[in-house]
Amino acid sequence: MSTCLFCEIASGRIKAEIIHQDDDYVAFRDVNPKAPSHVLVVPRRHISGLNELVGPDCGLADGLLGAGVAAAHAEGLAPGGYRFVINCGEDAGQSVAHLHLHVLGGRPLAWPPG
Ligand code: AMP
Repeated sequence: MSTCLFCEIASGRIKAEIIHQDDDYVAFRDVNPKAPSHVLVVPRRHISGLNELVGPDCGLADGLLGAGVAAAHAEGLAPGGYRFVINCGEDAGQSVAHLHLHVLGGRPLAWPPG
């Protein structure tokens, strides 16, 4: 049976630099940061990505955004600004099939993204 990397991190079976966690969400530092501050926020419950956010599961998005805003505040990013990214599927470069929100900041971020 295959295991999910972010389920393993959320459960504590794989170590990560966790900056905040509650009953529903875990926020931890990206191991390969693309900005001075790069945090990932994941729901504890396994959901593979945005395409699966349908029906009652849509409510997960509210909590995910709220946890992302809390992470941005905790990282001191709120005054200067920051970016949320959720990659969905191959074309967007999603590499881990567990819904996750990237919180990026600490430098000017170019637009549009590549
Ligand atoms: P995505 O490409 O949108 O699926 O994002 C997956 C992210 O997970 C990438 O930015 C990776 O650097 C990050 N990542 C992969 N393995 C780990 C890990 N063990 N701990 C923290 N972040 C990780």
